[in-house]
Amino acid sequence: MNWVSELAGFVSVETGEAVRARHGGDVSGHDAVWPDVVAMPESAVQVAAVLAWANERELPVTPWGAGTSVEGNPIPVRGGISLSLERMNRVKEIRLEDRLAVVEAGTKYRELNRQLAGSGWQFAVEIGGDATIGGMIANNAAGPKAVKYGSTKAHVLGLEVALADGRLIRTGGRTWKQSCGYNLTQLFVGSEGTLGVITEAIVKLTPTPAVREVVVARFASVREAVRCVGAMRALDAGAIEFLDRSYMSFLGEEAADTLFCEFHTEGHGRAAEAIFLAGGATEVSRAGETLWAARLRAYTASQEANPGARLLTTDTAVPVGAFAEMVEFLQAELARRELTGYLLGHAGDGNLHVILPWRGEGEWGAVEGFHRAAVRKSLELGGTASGEHGVGMGKREFVATEHGEEAVAVMRGIKAMLDPRGILNPGKVLPERIVTNANEL
Ligand SMILES: Cc1cc2nc3c(=O)[nH]c(=O)nc-3n(C[C@H](O)[C@H](O)[C@H](O)COP(=O)(O)OP(=O)(O)OC[C@H]3O[C@@H](n4cnc5c(N)ncnc54)[C@H](O)[C@@H]3O)c2cc1C
Repeated sequence: MNWVSELAGFVSVETGEAVRARHGGDVSGHDAVWPDVVAMPESAVQVAAVLAWANERELPVTPWGAGTSVEGNPIPVRGGISLSLERMNRVKEIRLEDRLAVVEAGTKYRELNRQLAGSGWQFAVEIGGDATIGGMIANNAAGPKAVKYGSTKAHVLGLEVALADGRLIRTGGRTWKQSCGYNLTQLFVGSEGTLGVITEAIVKLTPTPAVREVVVARFASVREAVRCVGAMRALDAGAIEFLDRSYMSFLGEEAADTLFCEFHTEGHGRAAEAIFLAGGATEVSRAGETLWAARLRAYTASQEANPGARLLTTDTAVPVGAFAEMVEFLQAELARRELTGYLLGHAGDGNLHVILPWRGEGEWGAVEGFHRAAVRKSLELGGTASGEHGVGMGKREFVATEHGEEAVAVMRGIKAMLDPRGILNPGKVLPERIVTNANEL
């Protein structure tokens, strides 16, 4: 293609099959679509130049962090350019006195924490995927520690963003307080690469806990387990994870509905043990490290246990008071539909995942039906279709049901203003079809 050699005139590009294949899919079960070319800019100015050039030619550009999304978010469904941030991976500044770090968007969060090791500070969002900070901001990722520290959105002070037409803007700043103008930073958080390409981020640093106490409590019922969640929040737990009985038996553990908690204050583990025992736990232990590692590997382990299968991961989040009802509903739906599904989640913030393996069209129908039922129930309970994975390809239809037609019209207006030619990550986030009645999902 002529345009590829023109592009190669001002930015590094890769057209080999292996590189295009890697940038054609993520870890979800969505069909891969290879980009025509992968651009590998090394600076914000190069990112901006690629966008300005592509915008003139109306070529699709899909940003790429590390491809660990689970909802098809970085798949370039219309081909064109996959814009990989992997060469923009420098930690530019660590300023402990200001409690912030400045990173290029392709920096892995684990690399930032590696460079912070021993300083007493951390980037406090911890997720299972080996993700970039730009990708985490773009998906507003969260993970087990969000109950204490919040989702990624709570850790972003400012951004540098390249817009579709090639303008580079800065949002937010270096202060922990700012009340000056519209909050453009949060507009880009969670926008999944559809509004602009984040080239640099100023992120907050959080003290690394000096204490880590882990407590595992097994219960005979979901209700009993969930009744203890409020007390764990009052103890300022660093994580309150729920693993349902079938997932525990998949791990080779006793089949019991289980809460897995982490505390960062000395003595809170002991207090939690007492609360769990008074709350009806059948067993309470401190032997949590193996289970913790298994929890972080849930997605990978589900894939390994089902070779050749694709995975669909639900991501509903409900108000914490409705968590038990949601778990029981999902357990009953799995049984009624005779589906295999691994159910686990972040009980402290009502976020539940069911990882469902499927093979071929025959199994897809039942799995998709389950996903729709889960979203319907979540919305009925005042929840959301996605707590942390984003909309990507698989949840677009739910956006209007969750937010309403008028809110979607405002979203479309923002998209049209920032990306009038629709070049940025086309086919994501905004729904094709407006379904406002959840019963029609
Ligand atoms: C084993 C495993 C465990 C996981 N655990 C969790 C978990 O606990 N919690 C959780 O929330 N997620 C989890 N995830 C999902 C995933 O890691 C996150 O969604 C993560 O945010 C994706 O980051 P990435 O760098 O891989 O981005 P990608 O997957 O490459 O991209 C994500 C999205 O952001 C866009 N994008 C990427 N970089 C930029 C940029 N610089 N500017 C603008 N847009 C950009 C892409 O176009 C895409 O839409 C897990 C994934 C795996 C494989």
